[in-house]
Parts: sequence; C-alpha cells; structure tokens
Amino acid sequence: MNAIPSRKHEYEAGKLAKRLRHQVGQAIADFNMIEDGDRVMVCLSGGKDSYTLLDILLKLRAKAPVHFDLTAVHLDQKQPGYDPDVLPGYLRSVGVPFEILEQDTYSVVKRVIPEGKTMCSLCSRLRRGSLYTYAAENGYTKIALGHHRDDIVETLFLNLFHQGTLKAMPPKLRSDDGRNVLIRPLAYCAEEDIAEYAGSQGFPIMPCNLCGSQENLQRKTIKAMLGEWERKHPGRVENIFRAIGNVAPSQLADRTLFDFAGLGTAVGGARADAHAWLAGEARETAEPS
Ligand code: SF4
Repeated sequence: MNAIPSRKHEYEAGKLAKRLRHQVGQAIADFNMIEDGDRVMVCLSGGKDSYTLLDILLKLRAKAPVHFDLTAVHLDQKQPGYDPDVLPGYLRSVGVPFEILEQDTYSVVKRVIPEGKTMCSLCSRLRRGSLYTYAAENGYTKIALGHHRDDIVETLFLNLFHQGTLKAMPPKLRSDDGRNVLIRPLAYCAEEDIAEYAGSQGFPIMPCNLCGSQENLQRKTIKAMLGEWERKHPGRVENIFRAIGNVAPSQLADRTLFDFAGLGTAVGGARADAHAWLAGEARETAEPS
C-alpha cells in the first residue's frame, strides 16, 4: 500500500533536486559567477539556505567543465546554546574543507542594542565584516552567499516602501570596500523549494534565533504581504523577480539612467517640426493683419 506514495515522493524529490541544480547552474552561467581557478568561500550560517547552497555547489562541481575550489566558512558568534560540534560533524561527513571562525559578536550586539529591539541588522553587519575580511586575507576569489529569490524580492519592497529607491539584492556584486566579489547562486531559487529540499536532505539546521532576537518587523510584514499575494495569484513573486532583470530605464524617471534631456536632439525631426510650428505661430501673431 505504501509503495506507490513513496515512489511518487521519491519522484517529486528528484524533480525538486533537479530543478534547484538547474536554477543554480543557470544563475552561475547568466552572471558568470564562477570561473576556472576560482577559490570560492561558501558562507555557512547553519540555516537551510546555506546548507542547500553548499550541497548544490558540491554536486554541480562534480560535473562542472571548469575547476574551482569550495571551502565552507562559518562564524561562531558565541550565541548562548550554540553547539560547536554540529557543523564540523556535518562538513566532515560530506568531505568538504572548512574553517570555523570565532568572534564574540553576540556580546557586542547585546551591549549596543537596547533590550527588546531587533539585533539582526548589527549582528549581520558584524558577521559580514568578519567573513569578508577573512576571505580577502586568505585569497578567496568569490564569496558565495545563500540569499534566494524571495530574499531578493523582499529586499526590493523594503527599499521601495521604506527608502524610496528601486533596488534589490544583485546576484553578483563587488563588496562596498571593493575587496571581494560576492555571488548569490540561489538567486533563481524559491524559498519554499529550498525549505523542502533542506528537509528532505536532513541537514542539521542550526536556528538563527539562539540569541532570542526577533526578525526585522518590516521584512516580516513584507514577507506576509508577498505570501498573501502568492496565495491569491500564484506566480506573482516569480513575475516580480523577472521584472528585476527586465528593466526599461526609458520608462522610469531616473535621469542618471536615461538621457531624457537629450531626447529632443535624438529625435531631431519631431523637435524641428515642433520648433517650426511654434515659429510659424509666433510669426502669424506678430504680422499685422
Ligand atoms: S536572529 Fe540573532 S543570530 Fe540571527 S541575525 Fe538576528 S541577531 Fe543575529
């Protein structure tokens, strides 16, 4: 009785794994994320996204036409209740080189952020600082981050609603200090797929809430809004994501992206006609009747 559902389940799981591998491979190719000889540092937080990222990169590398190194790097931020054995145990079992860095950012964040306020923004900034410095000092050519399609769309709306800017999270960028190139190979992957994949693979997830901090409220609200849209209009989030890669600067109003001022000279005929008409009107008005 159980054989059919289990085969179906295996089939679905296989399809999901294939879809994720395809999407990651496509993002890598579209943005030239990984090149021959790259030393890629995979930032592993211990959450579902970074485990999935590492797992898929390892599988893709096995068949890749180019040679690149992968090293998993994790920062132990000294959160209470953190189990230092979980990640090394997993990473040894999959045979990937790794480094566990240690820095007590937890105490810093606790000291600086008032009780009851969300600590995530400062905590992430400190974590990024440590990891990016480590990458620059140790010759990594790329830093792979586990942000996915839904993170990117949420960031788009956060910036739209709260900053008045039209920007999201690019699949590839140079870090602000110019020292690192960051890549987001999961950029085309839906969070729902990643969660299902991580569950099916049995990754030993380490929750990012050992510190007791709440998720940023604004991001939470946007996540709920997008979730509601997606329930009512399946495919909407994917459409929004596609729009990020399909921008028409001439249909927006950013004068630094499109030469609106020069439009008149570019379409000389229309402007000349308008000038001739205006000149004619002026002449007729000026001539005595
Ligand atoms: S939940 Fe805690 S550990 Fe995770 S980013 Fe926020 S402050 Fe940092």
